[in-house]
Amino acid sequence: MSLPGSSRYVVVGAGIHGLSTAYHLAKELRERGLGSGRDIAVLDKTGPGAGASGIACGVVRNNYFQPAMSELMQACVEVWESDPAAYHYNPVGYIALGAAVQESDLVATYERQEAIGYRSELILGEAEVDAHMKGLFPDWRAQGTTVCLHEHQGGFAFNLDSVLGLAGKCEAEGVTIYSGVEVTGFELAGDDTVTAASTSEGRIEVGEQLVIAPGPWARVFWAMLGLPETIDVRTPSGDVVRDRPMWTYWNLQEGEITVDPLSFATADGGPPPVIHLDTAAPLETDDGRLVTDELWGIYFKRDRHGVQGGAAPLVVESDVELDPYPSTTNVDPDFADMWCAGLSHAMSRFEGCRASYKDARSGGVGAFTADNFPVFDYLRPNVYGVLDSNHGYKMIGVGREVAKVLVGEHSQLLYPFRFERFATGDLHPVSHSPYPWS
Ligand SMILES: Cc1cc2nc3c(=O)[nH]c(=O)nc-3n(C[C@H](O)[C@H](O)[C@H](O)COP(=O)(O)OP(=O)(O)OC[C@H]3O[C@@H](n4cnc5c(N)ncnc54)[C@H](O)[C@@H]3O)c2cc1C
Repeated sequence: MSLPGSSRYVVVGAGIHGLSTAYHLAKELRERGLGSGRDIAVLDKTGPGAGASGIACGVVRNNYFQPAMSELMQACVEVWESDPAAYHYNPVGYIALGAAVQESDLVATYERQEAIGYRSELILGEAEVDAHMKGLFPDWRAQGTTVCLHEHQGGFAFNLDSVLGLAGKCEAEGVTIYSGVEVTGFELAGDDTVTAASTSEGRIEVGEQLVIAPGPWARVFWAMLGLPETIDVRTPSGDVVRDRPMWTYWNLQEGEITVDPLSFATADGGPPPVIHLDTAAPLETDDGRLVTDELWGIYFKRDRHGVQGGAAPLVVESDVELDPYPSTTNVDPDFADMWCAGLSHAMSRFEGCRASYKDARSGGVGAFTADNFPVFDYLRPNVYGVLDSNHGYKMIGVGREVAKVLVGEHSQLLYPFRFERFATGDLHPVSHSPYPWS
């Protein structure tokens, strides 16, 4: 389909955020009598799900120490739960297990979940946590976990399927998705309003508003909009850290083992919750080699062909600006040993699973902001940025909030993610988690 010369709303990126924004905006316009999906063009240089959304592990959880993240995530889970079939959403729940150092964070998270009505359960004490886990998985044997937050909402969704489900909803609302259209630059008026985008398929004028949802390509778009590579960040104590890079990259370490998916089930044969295990107990491979005796962590879930999951990401030192997805695997060579040792540490059913590790491309690169939290805000007078700092496959509801903002409403849920927070010091609290996304 050839690119139109103009569109009232132009959305760049057909990942979870671009498509959720387009779908919810189309609904808002129709329900308010302000227009329809035909006023929206989504452009993607490849196609729906070609970016991070199509390779995400797909975990949907609320476990966030930061109040604003937790509240936003509750709204996102509401969207997942609104149409599990179209979104290929599996509401199996989510369990976070932590070491003593993480206890206070998880207790605070649980208390907030209780306050906002997010269904979860807290178990404290090593013996109590062990009993809870053995009730679900009789072969549970992880050591050193003294706290367990069991979320009875959340779970996971099948990445590409859910993106295609959203694409179908967009098209049903009259939105057109233009695949194979690479945006190469913007034309800005004197007041910094974007009037048009240049693309590999020609020029498209922006009638009213432009939304960018570029996932790991955030830095490329940041530069196209003439925004600064480095920023000053005011810390909550009032100090100003000068010239912090706005974008850094982390390599997400993920992989899978090919086993009968049904071999990973709860004691009553039910689907297992997603599990995130952090502990400082020594981690050894099945043949007795010490992997680490410091705090380590893994996450895992049942997948279609086995068990899939990951471990803490690694900072990317080199400049991957132009190609966040190199064609080779992004995973550290020691990842498979570590992750499989972690699975075996957790449950005896996974003993020897290293032999079933699937040697395939997995993992990927995430672009993180200066404080590792999303920026959801107007970046230019008519340009809204959905820059999720790699938090976001689970954040399917952000598009619903963005749609409200685009038609002129205020979003209380998105307000804490405004860009101005770096200048004002209104930053999010930091947890004890070794992950940049908790
Ligand atoms: C390995 C891995 C595992 C993850 N696991 C999870 C998880 O379990 N749970 C979770 O919540 N999050 C997870 N994430 C994070 C999550 O995947 C991302 O935060 C989220 O998918 C970003 O969505 P998006 O729509 O912003 O970007 P994307 O899905 O990356 O979409 C951006 C789109 O923009 C297009 N594009 C880029 N440049 C241009 C251009 N110049 N012109 C036109 N189009 C362009 C791309 O083709 C792409 O389709 C994971 C990330 C990775 C890498």
